[in-house]
Amino acid sequence: MSGTSRPAEQVDLLVVGGGMAGLTAAARATRAGVRVLVVDIAPQVGGTARYAGVAWSAPTREVIDRAIPNSVPELRHVVVDDLAEGLAWIRSVGVELGDPMDVLDFGRGHRFDTNHYLDACVRIVEDGGGQVWTGTEVVALVQDGPASGPVEGPAPVRGALLRRQDGSDLQVEAPWVLLSTGGFQGDPDLRAAYVHPHARDIQVRSNPFSAGAGYRLGRAAGAGVVGDDAGFYGHLVPAGVPFAGPEDFLPLSLMYSEHGLLFNLRGERFTDESAGDHLSTMALLEQPEARGLLIADARVHRDWVTKAYVAGSVSLDRFALASRRGARAGVADEVDELAFLPEEWGYPGEAIAAAVQDHNRRLRAGERVVPDRARDRTPLVEGPYYVLECAPAITFPFHGLRIDTSARVLDPAGRAVPGLLCAGADSGGVYHRAYAGGLANALTFAGRAVRTVLA
Ligand SMILES: Cc1cc2nc3c(=O)[nH]c(=O)nc-3n(C[C@H](O)[C@H](O)[C@H](O)COP(=O)(O)OP(=O)(O)OC[C@H]3O[C@@H](n4cnc5c(N)ncnc54)[C@H](O)[C@@H]3O)c2cc1C
Repeated sequence: MSGTSRPAEQVDLLVVGGGMAGLTAAARATRAGVRVLVVDIAPQVGGTARYAGVAWSAPTREVIDRAIPNSVPELRHVVVDDLAEGLAWIRSVGVELGDPMDVLDFGRGHRFDTNHYLDACVRIVEDGGGQVWTGTEVVALVQDGPASGPVEGPAPVRGALLRRQDGSDLQVEAPWVLLSTGGFQGDPDLRAAYVHPHARDIQVRSNPFSAGAGYRLGRAAGAGVVGDDAGFYGHLVPAGVPFAGPEDFLPLSLMYSEHGLLFNLRGERFTDESAGDHLSTMALLEQPEARGLLIADARVHRDWVTKAYVAGSVSLDRFALASRRGARAGVADEVDELAFLPEEWGYPGEAIAAAVQDHNRRLRAGERVVPDRARDRTPLVEGPYYVLECAPAITFPFHGLRIDTSARVLDPAGRAVPGLLCAGADSGGVYHRAYAGGLANALTFAGRAVRTVLA
């Protein structure tokens, strides 16, 4: 081990990762009189939550059960059951919530200034005698020997060994450790292993530090995992256009895909695009080379390409931006011209032109299309046509550590790992192949984690 060792520090709760889940838990615990230390590997706390803006989820258990039927029911119900209380907590730290708003076709939520909120949480922790350390890494969790007794269980976690920015190591003793490092989307190997082999090479649409530390620490401590083939939350982005920075995440997200048509390299539609851009993103990942063509007509361009995705968010011509940034993009006056796509793109243009014609004919005749279109069944008949090559980008995976409704980490047999908690994108089971809010997941399970500590 490198660096010098300092004497142990003692706290009641060690929070690993100071984003939405970690800072919420830290501030709530501090207000309840708990001595907290937050450590974050980044030079600044806040994580991906700094780019987000709407705390939302499904309004009722019935709605989330319909939207996300294959996740763990009791976990997704926590998000719905506790959201109102979580929103009240956000208000209690002096952060305003916007008017209620619709999100996707089933959710409700409120816009708020996440930066204001995260900074307020840090102040609460520091004013309450807790500490927030940036540039700090967790080398390992400290565990007792295996629990003994009539039934053997996972060994209790008693703290962690930290490495600070100056290279020095420090042991922190804590009866509770919360893992909240924001998921493993930053690690290509974990993406390839637990999202999809194609996910190794996709762009990451989140803070760059969430690279699986919580996942690895949890597993090393005996945690189980949940969410095989669970998918991920992300959006389509122009293929081959690297994000210059987080400021690109929203402008380069092609949310208008819900109203266009998507074709894979074989010239086939492969998903109901109208179900949601984030769902098409998962579907495209599984297609050959994880790239596809997104086709919009003049109506879609006018009504959706330039429109803000949720009220109050950025509104600009995403097609023009992608084109300026070097994406494979083109405009065709008529559907037939789609037959002359540049050969080097690799798509069968004639087949795609014929498929668009056939799609339009069927929708006009009121016939079924395959894959079906649940929403926006308007044919693409108004030239010009906007063609853009797109690819999936990941914000966080749905596979993660196994937890219970008290945010306790569970081993593969379902026994709690004593002293170990997890909230936010490090956990699995809450969402599966569909999504109902990342902030709400982090907010509500952070609240549950604090309740567990206080109990
Ligand atoms: C552009 C964009 C817009 C979004 N908008 C919304 C929205 O409107 N509504 C919504 O619900 N969701 C939204 N999301 C998703 C939302 O931001 C995330 O789901 C949420 O922030 C996850 O919370 P978290 O606490 O799990 O992770 P984060 O908020 O990312 O926090 C994780 C923290 O852990 C730290 N960390 C990582 N590794 C380590 C380590 N080894 N040691 C210590 N610390 C570590 C990171 O530095 C970070 O500070 C958006 C995401 C993006 C990219």
